[in-house]
Amino acid sequence: MKSVFELIQLHDHEQVVFCNDRVTGLKAIIAIHNTTLGPALGGTRMWPYVSEAEALWDVLNLSRDMTYKAAAAGLKLGGGKSVIIGDPQTMKTPEYFRAFGRFLETLGGRYIASEDVGTTVEDLEYAHLETKHIAGTDPHRGGRGDPSPLTALGVFHGIEACLAHRFDDATFKGRRVAVQGAGKVGSHLVHRLIEAGAEVIVTDIDELKLQALHTSYGVRVCAPSEIYDQECDVFAPCAMSGALSDETIPRLKCAIVAGGSNVQIERREHADMLHARGILYAPDYVINAGGLINVGGEHFGWDVARIVHEVENIAPRLTDILTRASRANIPPLAVADEMVREVISK
Ligand code: NAD
Repeated sequence: MKSVFELIQLHDHEQVVFCNDRVTGLKAIIAIHNTTLGPALGGTRMWPYVSEAEALWDVLNLSRDMTYKAAAAGLKLGGGKSVIIGDPQTMKTPEYFRAFGRFLETLGGRYIASEDVGTTVEDLEYAHLETKHIAGTDPHRGGRGDPSPLTALGVFHGIEACLAHRFDDATFKGRRVAVQGAGKVGSHLVHRLIEAGAEVIVTDIDELKLQALHTSYGVRVCAPSEIYDQECDVFAPCAMSGALSDETIPRLKCAIVAGGSNVQIERREHADMLHARGILYAPDYVINAGGLINVGGEHFGWDVARIVHEVENIAPRLTDILTRASRANIPPLAVADEMVREVISK
């Protein structure tokens, strides 16, 4: 097993902060990957990780991808992320998030937190009482609020770009999309897909969320373990990190993988594995940048029209990456990674 410093050096992280608050029981890790382009901005994930090693793996990968996401989207932001090790159903209190806010404040703005899996705008409003370094704040106080509708908008148009690239036809009628995760991003995406005429099958570990989507849209639902085996045109991961792995990639029966979740592939080689299987993989950090553009836009003081315009730029940017990858017969992720390295080194 690698030591903590070996893990931090693997992707060249600048700083990793372990936070422990005895009074509230808060245990969090804040990872700042790279601040070359600006302050690190990224979400705060709260999840009952089975081990501290799993939480560290997640925050290191998520924060690295935030650097890539910001650079690919042309934002003057660095990459960072935080994870809170805990059960979002039972452990949240205002004091818990205020304690988290005090840790954020010690970083003096090198890291700006927004919401992610397991946290909400309301949770971060408590942290906001202790620090100004929060983005995606309450719309009633002038913030841009929950970023997930704009993440889903970018993913929807990104899927359209993938359909056009693969089938020369961007329409959703007659297309089947399998969505993993019926949370904030997944449910907004399902809404757009249904509106566009796609057939949708969805899964989640939370039965209530699945039933809600089934009742609202009549979508088919399946067990979480079965989503990888669905015959579909598009598999859209919108749940947790590492959905695409040695175990799951051979099971896929789709032409395209394009979704909202972060760190979709467990290891970089999995992009090669998808390419070898003839599956078009839209780099996650390119297609799901809508939420970052939204909270980054709040940080920069952009108006809504500017933010939506930047989110709508995701599709043409993705088309350019897919086209260059096709010409060179390499995975789109390789093209996107190269673009990002160029931006940062400049
Ligand atoms: P969320 O917590 O609202 O939704 C995640 C959903 O995934 C939950 O409903 C959860 O029950 C479900 N889930 C967990 N494990 C699962 C499994 N094994 N199978 C099926 N479902 C499972 O979070 P969200 O904000 O919708 O984020 C979803 C993903 O998108 C995350 O990877 C997040 O980092 C990424 N993302 C979110 C945004 C945003 O704007 N919220 C922006 C960019 C990327």
